[in-house]
Amino acid sequence: MPVNQIQKTMYSKLPNFVAFIALLILIGCTAGEPEGYRILTAGIAHESNSFIPYLTTEETFNLRRGEDALEGRAWARLLEEEGMELISTLHAGAGPSGLVSKDTYETFRDEILEALRAAVPVDGIFLDMHGAMHVEGYADAQADFIQQIRKIAGEEVIVAASFDLHGNISQEFIEGLNLVSAYRTAPHVDGEETRERTAALLVEALRNDFSPRTAHINLPILIPGEKGITSVEPLKTFYAKLLEISRMEGLMDASIFVGMPWTDVDRAGMSVQVVAESEEYYPEALLQAQALAKAIWEQRFNLDFDVAIASIDEAISIALEKDSTVFITDSGDNVTAGAAGDGTLVLERLLVHEVEDAVLAGIVDPEAVELCVEAGVGAEVQFAVGGKIDNVFCKPLPITATVLRIKYLDEDNMQTAAVLQVEGVTLVLLNWTTAFTDPAHFRQVDIDPLAHKIVVVKEGYLFQGLRDIAPHAIMALTPGFANQIMEELEYKQVRRPIYPLDPEMDWSATGF
Ligand SMILES: [Zn+2]
Repeated sequence: MPVNQIQKTMYSKLPNFVAFIALLILIGCTAGEPEGYRILTAGIAHESNSFIPYLTTEETFNLRRGEDALEGRAWARLLEEEGMELISTLHAGAGPSGLVSKDTYETFRDEILEALRAAVPVDGIFLDMHGAMHVEGYADAQADFIQQIRKIAGEEVIVAASFDLHGNISQEFIEGLNLVSAYRTAPHVDGEETRERTAALLVEALRNDFSPRTAHINLPILIPGEKGITSVEPLKTFYAKLLEISRMEGLMDASIFVGMPWTDVDRAGMSVQVVAESEEYYPEALLQAQALAKAIWEQRFNLDFDVAIASIDEAISIALEKDSTVFITDSGDNVTAGAAGDGTLVLERLLVHEVEDAVLAGIVDPEAVELCVEAGVGAEVQFAVGGKIDNVFCKPLPITATVLRIKYLDEDNMQTAAVLQVEGVTLVLLNWTTAFTDPAHFRQVDIDPLAHKIVVVKEGYLFQGLRDIAPHAIMALTPGFANQIMEELEYKQVRRPIYPLDPEMDWSATGF
């Protein structure tokens, strides 16, 4: 071919050549960017106390969507830094309370499913759960949730879920998930760390083309969180073992769920999970889960309170003999286990014993707070306080008090605390349900807990912040929706036999 003919041919192919170069440049530009893994994120996190006679509805939940759900979250940052493309949907979460209403659950679920339908295909799903949700009209809504997700996402998508260790987990739920990881501390100090670990495991599974499968064993052990503290034996050793198992060949993670005993469902109680990176290692995961479950079962009699327990009258007497501040927890009305927080028994006993210097933080009573706001600081008020939400275990208690302070605790002035003096008791009334679990909560209402003889809070175990400052602590075994004595609760649904309701029972972790 003559040279001019060659040139002519080249020129005639120039547009294709340019397009080829442009394609090369495009490929070059995207090489360091996302690897194309699309991850949908969602969550419905709730701890449902079925002994409470009222439902939890949508208003109780904190709802986050889109960028708002990702902002400031370590797990989201990790996924983004790993180059994942995130499709953030609804993240709903609420503090412990009664069963979730059917409408509320279905509204949340359907919003997530709708977003999933619009997003498929996705490579992974990250779920931020609690694990103890129970929904009105559903035997196991969490299993329903994952089954509905699978119908749309398919079986190949890797689903990773992060949990509070107080979740009640069923085999049906686990079967829909690939990866499961739960908190390793109670009182909890590793919530965000756990979510981050779960996200990292999801990335690891995607990058290595793993198909993780989780071995799961439900232990017939029903204990309150107060007997499941991870820093004391025997659980301390078992939780340390989780790290060891996670590092074994072919295994990715391991969890122990203490469970939520105030949810009367057949799946309630302790459970153990070990995540295998693939089907090949699943038998090993199951063996490790069985060995751990067996070891926990053998130690069940040693799962005990790590704090002094007493009746409320005994707790007050013991506290008065101490020469420093004593924290008393009103465990039956434990807000952090879903109880109402408006129980009046402890206030009544403090007044009967004419205790000269106590703080009670606090009692939930929006109407009484409103009356204090109307009366103003310095005014004397008379009304019956508390016993309006929990009218099963207590009744409103008539008091005469002086309004010391009114504190607006959030930007919108929606959360209001009224601090009153009722004889020797400094009483905090709240217009929303919350627990004082940290010294910061006391500072917000200008109370120095250590300047008082007795400090009463509505929790079971003292949370870490108060644990760190409390010279002495006593857990008062008070009646209420979070009764610590499992044998006194009227269970109808929990599987039987179960320890400690059937103390003579025997059980084998390998009988599956
Ligand atoms: Zn928890």
